[in-house]
Amino acid sequence: MDTGNSIVISIILLSLKKNVMEDRLCLECQQPLSGRADKKFCDDQCRSSYNNRLNADSSKVVRSINAILRRNKQILSDYCPEGKSKIKKEKLISKGLDSQYHTHTYTTKEGSVYRFCYDYGWLQLDNDYILIVRNDSQTKI
Ligand SMILES: [Zn+2]
Repeated sequence: MDTGNSIVISIILLSLKKNVMEDRLCLECQQPLSGRADKKFCDDQCRSSYNNRLNADSSKVVRSINAILRRNKQILSDYCPEGKSKIKKEKLISKGLDSQYHTHTYTTKEGSVYRFCYDYGWLQLDNDYILIVRNDSQTKI
């Protein structure tokens, strides 16, 4: 292969690469984009549709987690009318308590970790029991 051919091939490769780079698509409607290299949308309408959809998806996640947290709090409060009670863990689970979800934790000086859903918390005891507490101040138990 002489130098001339190799230059021609380089130019072809370069233009192919350029075409690939220019073949960018709108993130919303998937139409090819022209213009600035950092352009992501055809127009403001596509941009706002895209952002609205992203926001809707994230608030859907927030709403479903909030629903779990509220249900947990409701279950805990149903079984803790006096502000403190001991109950079998399986009872709470059967009522739908999802112990993975909580708003915060509180660790006592002794190292016991209470998990809270808002103002109701629970502590796993050594046996199959759970201690439920209501804590309005969120600092002392
Ligand atoms: Zn578009």
